[in-house]
Amino acid sequence: MIGKKIMSCLLVAGVALCLTACEKAMPEVSKDVFAMDTFMNVRVYGENAQETAERCVKEIERLDGLFDAQDPGSEIGRLNSEKNIQISADTFDIICRSGEVSELTEGAFDITVYPVVKLWGFTTGENRVPAEDEIDDALQFVDQSFVEIKGDAADRTASLPDNVEIGLGGIAKGYTSDRLIEIFREEGVMSGIVSLGGNVAAYGTKPGGKPWRVAIENPDVDSKISALKNADYLGVVEVSDKSVITSGGYERFFEDDGVRYHHIIDPSTGYPADSGLISVSIISEDGCLADGLSTALFVMGKDRALSLWSEHRDMFDCILVDDDGAVTITDGISDCFSSGLKYEIYR
Ligand code: AMP
Ligand code: MG
Repeated sequence: MIGKKIMSCLLVAGVALCLTACEKAMPEVSKDVFAMDTFMNVRVYGENAQETAERCVKEIERLDGLFDAQDPGSEIGRLNSEKNIQISADTFDIICRSGEVSELTEGAFDITVYPVVKLWGFTTGENRVPAEDEIDDALQFVDQSFVEIKGDAADRTASLPDNVEIGLGGIAKGYTSDRLIEIFREEGVMSGIVSLGGNVAAYGTKPGGKPWRVAIENPDVDSKISALKNADYLGVVEVSDKSVITSGGYERFFEDDGVRYHHIIDPSTGYPADSGLISVSIISEDGCLADGLSTALFVMGKDRALSLWSEHRDMFDCILVDDDGAVTITDGISDCFSSGLKYEIYR
């Protein structure tokens, strides 16, 4: 898993290596950090690149300290154990955004699926296939509407009923990347790019004015799908001021008795989503939405994903890969996507 994450970072690093001599004159600072269980890279261009990159690293560490459900001292860890606590503006906002994505995707995205994710061992790495009755018991407490938040700028609280717990693994990186882009804006840097475990947010264009080129990983990690075999990556999207966020079963999985079980859980079954999709990338100006949607569309499958896009084409675009290797992109990115593979454009 970690190997894949390094790959993602390198792909983005590879993009930055393509800068021309003139672009290289711009002061550039790149910082690596391991947080939220993944490798992250922040790359900033401009006079105050150093301070900006340092602020970004601190922000990543601060948000990780609030959101990490595995840390009993984090706000989410405390909410899960104490059930009713005062929360920060960031925790309030991210729970709010999670609720929006859950509603938009009719529950395919649901942060209360966390106890089921734990049952499968994805929070500790001690993976196992839970018994059916364990899953059924846990599913009674999976429903985003159990999560209550209230308050105003001065006093915010969150509460959960007994047995309900939340995990932000499906949305925290997108939320964080939006905050980092906010810092870029506040600091007035020329341009920059962040890759949080391969989830990319691009600020502005590359220093020379061309769009950032973001490579999407080939989800066929064991070269089993003939349509995808030997492709270095799935394709490249050229973006500026956008996030490109990918979810795939190949990112984290285990095998038991010859069956592969991955980390994206269908909240309606308690089992790893089996929608026929093996990878979903979302391209959007809203990184938090993109992260939530990448997880949700993976659960929903191609038909429902494309019909959601048809209703909300101003909010996002997507790249969907079927388990037979068929690649579909939505019309909004047809001019900025390139690939050596065959793909279909959905209009
Ligand atoms: P991502 O890589 O953004 O798709 O997020 C996957 C992570 O989100 C998993 O490792 C779980 O921690 C969590 N997760 C799994 N299934 C769901 C779901 N249906 N809704 C929300 N979060 C989920
Ligand atoms: Mg996600």
